[in-house]
Amino acid sequence: MTAILTLTSDHIAVAGAGLLGRLVAWQLLRDGYAVTLYDAGDLDTPPGAAWTAAGMVAPLCETAISERCVYDMGRFALAQWPHWLEALDAASLWQQTGSLMVAHPQDLGELTQFRRDLDHALGGTSPCQTLDDREVQRLEPDLAPGFRQGLYLPDEAHLDNRALLTRLLDEIRALGGECHAHCPVDTFPGEVVTAEGRRRFNLVIDCRGTGARQRHPSLRGVRGETLHVQTDEIRLSRPVRLMHPRYQLYVVPKPAHRFVIGATQIESEDRSPMSLQSSLELGSALYTLSPAFAEARILEQGVNLRPAFLDNLPHVTQREGLITANGLFRHGYLLAPAVVCHLLAVVRDHGDRPFADTLAARPPQENVA
Ligand SMILES: Cc1cc2nc3c(=O)[nH]c(=O)nc-3n(C[C@H](O)[C@H](O)[C@H](O)COP(=O)(O)OP(=O)(O)OC[C@H]3O[C@@H](n4cnc5c(N)ncnc54)[C@H](O)[C@@H]3O)c2cc1C
Repeated sequence: MTAILTLTSDHIAVAGAGLLGRLVAWQLLRDGYAVTLYDAGDLDTPPGAAWTAAGMVAPLCETAISERCVYDMGRFALAQWPHWLEALDAASLWQQTGSLMVAHPQDLGELTQFRRDLDHALGGTSPCQTLDDREVQRLEPDLAPGFRQGLYLPDEAHLDNRALLTRLLDEIRALGGECHAHCPVDTFPGEVVTAEGRRRFNLVIDCRGTGARQRHPSLRGVRGETLHVQTDEIRLSRPVRLMHPRYQLYVVPKPAHRFVIGATQIESEDRSPMSLQSSLELGSALYTLSPAFAEARILEQGVNLRPAFLDNLPHVTQREGLITANGLFRHGYLLAPAVVCHLLAVVRDHGDRPFADTLAARPPQENVA
């Protein structure tokens, strides 16, 4: 028999302290709501995709393989993140130095095709710039010579996502948020159920990512893998993507001479450690970007699941007492500002809800929230 606990005025529960949950909890606390935040795992090193992610905010890079609305929400993110980071006293976590795409001579067709796809998606208005070998070297002098061509995508950004998650948690606590780690919950309208019992709230916001499968039967996890390496032999000023017919490798510079390398997007919910093949592919592709990576130390191998609906787009659903926000797929940092601003407009009951055409639509094949 479960007990019914307290009900406080304007008390909101946020289930899931990943990227969305932390941003939403922080914003609601700033608005003056009482907020209780629950996570199934640890809060300092959260188990969700947000901790594993590379932290790129790259609307152009993603446009060739995504819907136009992803680009539009990504542009919104590029404008919104600096304000939020400033409010968090964490402006230095944001680097807006663009992205660079390169390909080995035998794969130059990949760059040409990417540029074509981008121009087609954006109606020929893409700000993407084609670079020759000298311009590539000028932009990133530590890359191996021999990249005859590159694409520079200005405005794109990356952020120190782990430091951001830590900063958000500190701020949530400083603003009086009640935080529960190692506390898996189930969500219901106006109610959260933990192993301890039921607790009533005015509103429950479900941001559990792939943990919300019971609520969203069509939600799936898409496996992603990363390597974290450290070396002071090479410096990069921006994310670099290596285009290849079978995969795109990305390398994102992080503080303290660390780099996050990723490539794989696998339609599998397997969370087991990285395969030997992935590790070899990532490592050897990285080495071809610059032999200076040869002596890099492998600090970590990351595996996690990106929460995705059938259309690979995020959706915010609502009914009395319960809002759910999910499906950020491979675009959490790219799309979170749009999703959070939309969700806050729902909570505040504002008529102006950004990106409602996409976000307020029900996830495909789901009729109930
Ligand atoms: C390898 C990889 C690289 C990525 N790189 C990028 C990138 O460069 N740029 C980008 O924009 N996006 C990237 N992403 C995607 C991004 O990480 C996700 O889209 C984003 O983290 C989703 O945010 P979320 O808050 O919905 O879910 P999550 O960040 O997964 O958080 C969900 C939280 O809910 C908690 N939870 C689950 N079940 C329960 C429960 N029952 N009760 C309580 N809590 C629960 C989990 O513990 C977790 O902390 C990447 C993802 C991966 C895997």
